[in-house]
Amino acid sequence: MTREDHQPTNRQIERPKREVGELHRVCGSSVGIVLAFDESTTPLIVNFEDPDEEPIVCAPVEDGMSVGDGKPVARPVQMYKGKPAVCWAVDAMRASQMTAVFVVTSPALSTAVSHAVYGTKRKGGGSNVQVVEIDRHALVERTRLGANFEMFGLPFGMLELARGLADSLFEGYDNVVILESDAVRITPGHLYELCLDAMEHPEVEAVPSWIECLRRSPFLFTRDFLHGLEERGIAAVGPNGFDRPVPLVKTRDHVFGDELLAPSPAEHPVASAFLDECTIGALEALRLARAAENGEGDGGESADAVGSPAAIGTDAAGGSMSDADRELVAIAQGILHAREANGDRNADLVWADEFGRRCKLDFPLLNDRWHKGKLAYLDSAATCQRVDVSLQAQRDFDEHANANVYRGGYELSKRATDEFGRARRRIEEFIGSDEQRIAFTANTTGAANLVAQAWGEWNIGEGDLIVIPLAEHHSNMLPFTMLAERKRAEVEFVPYGPDGRLDQQAFSAALERRPKLVCAALVGNVFGIVEPVREMAKAAHEVGARFLVDAAQALSHMKLDVKDLGADWVTMSGHKGYGPFGIGALWIGDEAFDEMDPLGGGGGVVTHVGVGSYRLRPRALQYEMGTPPISQAIAWAAACDYLDGLGMDAVARHDCALTRYLVRGLHMLDGVNVVGDHDRADGQVGLVSFTVRDVLPAELAAFAGRLGVDMRSGGHCALPLHASVGLIGTGRISFGVHTTSDDIDAALVAIEACRRAYER
Ligand code: PMP
Repeated sequence: MTREDHQPTNRQIERPKREVGELHRVCGSSVGIVLAFDESTTPLIVNFEDPDEEPIVCAPVEDGMSVGDGKPVARPVQMYKGKPAVCWAVDAMRASQMTAVFVVTSPALSTAVSHAVYGTKRKGGGSNVQVVEIDRHALVERTRLGANFEMFGLPFGMLELARGLADSLFEGYDNVVILESDAVRITPGHLYELCLDAMEHPEVEAVPSWIECLRRSPFLFTRDFLHGLEERGIAAVGPNGFDRPVPLVKTRDHVFGDELLAPSPAEHPVASAFLDECTIGALEALRLARAAENGEGDGGESADAVGSPAAIGTDAAGGSMSDADRELVAIAQGILHAREANGDRNADLVWADEFGRRCKLDFPLLNDRWHKGKLAYLDSAATCQRVDVSLQAQRDFDEHANANVYRGGYELSKRATDEFGRARRRIEEFIGSDEQRIAFTANTTGAANLVAQAWGEWNIGEGDLIVIPLAEHHSNMLPFTMLAERKRAEVEFVPYGPDGRLDQQAFSAALERRPKLVCAALVGNVFGIVEPVREMAKAAHEVGARFLVDAAQALSHMKLDVKDLGADWVTMSGHKGYGPFGIGALWIGDEAFDEMDPLGGGGGVVTHVGVGSYRLRPRALQYEMGTPPISQAIAWAAACDYLDGLGMDAVARHDCALTRYLVRGLHMLDGVNVVGDHDRADGQVGLVSFTVRDVLPAELAAFAGRLGVDMRSGGHCALPLHASVGLIGTGRISFGVHTTSDDIDAALVAIEACRRAYER
């Protein structure tokens, strides 16, 4: 049987329309679709008439029937909650009164499945089960979404099928469920695309409502369906796999992608009324809670009354407090009590707090009259605050030494050239590099693009493979997916385990395909987990691949030693290391250097130009086109001095103590799920992502921001990762050296207040 035998005909694609029309008449308005089977799934035969009956597992398929690479199919059944996943799904659908079930299958399996389903139908008479046959291989060619969707690990045919079904089914139906029972997942990203199509059918609110669900969760549900489950006390599954309820995504306007994730609390009447009433922020609430503990500032109420909002009638200045203020203080009291009960203030934390407090004095923004004592800045992963010595160094240069480098014979230019050279050397030393091995770029993204162009253009060709972990920042992914597009190369995305660690088995399997290039972050900006890149680089080199490390999130948290990493390139940004915007660096290893060629010419790139000839500047410097970021380099070097002065060991100790404190605190709060395993002993770099029940990440960040707690929300430029774990986005807290436990407790106050407001 050849693949061509299974080209879907129009008749096959259109068939559901007629049948659903029939079903609609018979069954009413709710329709469920199960995307259950493809070639990698052993078909299950489910007796839909009797959900309690054990399903018959039909494996392997008939003799002689082959799929894909020609091997007979015999794969394990996907289990969920102790049952084959499809059975669970069908039971759940029945419980929520879904009235029609489509079993979608590939032609290779359709005989077995159809037989089972139609056999049941005949037996039961009037069963609501339909089989839709689809050949995903043939559909790959037809999907306009093409390679983009490969990154989500999607079987294209399934998406195309879903789109086709959506087109034909949505009209007239108000409830469509898409489920899949296979490890191959339909992700929110796909549903979002589907949603865009569905929007052409404004009468329907259907597919795009989905929940945050367990990675490899077999199911994605509509909101109505999930409400049905919740009402029946069936919990959804959280991203860490525990059975805790997780938020339902609210409307189809807030489906996926950062732009769509920006509702403001003003859209939520209770949250916005609460915020309007607040006259204090979260840090102030903590201070008042402590004062109340000590019997100050509150007319001397007894400690017994602490925790009751009524016990706190005035703020520290004696002004009257609003109900919202009182609630905030009560929440703060609750958190302080719980901390005490948990024994969270250990010696390590006391040390880390002292360290953070001392460092805070070095950050002008955190001490100015608007922010001092009012702002908990917890977004250092996006940008570190500027440290005074770095600001001062930049200002000194700008005020007293501003001139262009290399070219001037006069004193000022010589001084600028010397200072710039010293700054380069200082930054190189800071990251363990030899001389002239870093090229200054605009940022990490610029450095990755430089590799994609100056190396990729010459070394990647048609059919070559590039391997990228799924959690990579878009900056470490798109330059290479675009390169692959240009060169007709392939990209394989390596998945993650539920603990937030790269699936090393999948990584090894990808290396067996002998990629030309592997790109990975030392520390991811969603999970905040240190990956074993040294070992990964070694393994990649053994199969002849080049290896790029994105060190953006590592730079300010650990002693970086680029040579010891064993990579070919390391990328980073100055602003992720307490330096200024507008500067980053690409470290280039010697072997990789020999395979690169400059992208472009101009001043900066050359030491000499003749008529029709030129001599390139030595090594990495030949990649700096035009005037380099001179004062930025000087400022960044001063930030390196600052970090070295603190000692990177001390920085790491501070990170570690506070990360534990944060994670324990988040675990304390109702409705909060931490993403990834932060109970592990290694690699705590002060970066934790999480979800909050009933609150969209952007709502949380906007709410917390109004209370003086700046944290991140959204996809963190890692949308493929979020899509793959079924998350619409996450909230993220990340530390700097100035972070203290008060900043963290203030964040907890804001999160708890937010969840309560959105729940009301
Ligand atoms: N990689 C990682 C891991 C990051 O966290 C970031 C910034 N969030 C980047 C790359 C991109 O950095 P930049 O915007 O400075 O280029």
